[in-house]
Amino acid sequence: MRIVLLGPPGAGKGTQAEIISAELNVPHISTGDIFRANLQQGTELGCAAQAYMDAGDLVPDEVVIAMVRDRLAQPDAAQGFLLDGFPRTRPQAQALDELLADLGRGLDGVLELRADTAEVVRRLIARGKESGRTDDTQETVRHRQQVYARDTAPLVKHYAQQGLLRTVDAVGEICEVTERMMRALGRDTASPRL
Ligand code: AMP
Repeated sequence: MRIVLLGPPGAGKGTQAEIISAELNVPHISTGDIFRANLQQGTELGCAAQAYMDAGDLVPDEVVIAMVRDRLAQPDAAQGFLLDGFPRTRPQAQALDELLADLGRGLDGVLELRADTAEVVRRLIARGKESGRTDDTQETVRHRQQVYARDTAPLVKHYAQQGLLRTVDAVGEICEVTERMMRALGRDTASPRL
């Protein structure tokens, strides 16, 4: 399956993407994780992304698109993938449409995780305290919500027009949200875990 996860920062995309990708046996491709790994390793890509990430701004489209193109060309993505945090702008969505069209493939679904702003801000500030993520400070968190509303939320309509959108309520226990997502994908329930 080829799936895109949409939703504001703090909606739980990363957590759910890990569970769902394991259930579906497809790689979880998180552009944020790729940037953070590059930052840690001190690569050129990491250095190029750092200032944007610290400010809660988006890394320029051409950088992100080239990175995703390379990642999707890797063999493990041939049978499917779960994209988490990409696309985040109209040009990125267009690039993904073109990339998949060139490969003769399409998306199977776009899951939108929906949660109100007060809830996601609360979650992110709690996460920042626990994880020390430098872009989870109060000011940056609010800015990232604005960036989402301005640049990414319009993609909901883009995918609704393509008939791909399924919106899921992201408020609740992790396993409840997972079940809603699996149902939205036409899978009954996640397999029980210990
Ligand atoms: P995330 O972990 O998805 O919240 O991403 C963390 C940060 O990485 C974002 O605030 C952006 O600075 C950058 N980033 C991740 N994905 C993208 C993307 N698709 N387009 C632009 N910037 C991105």
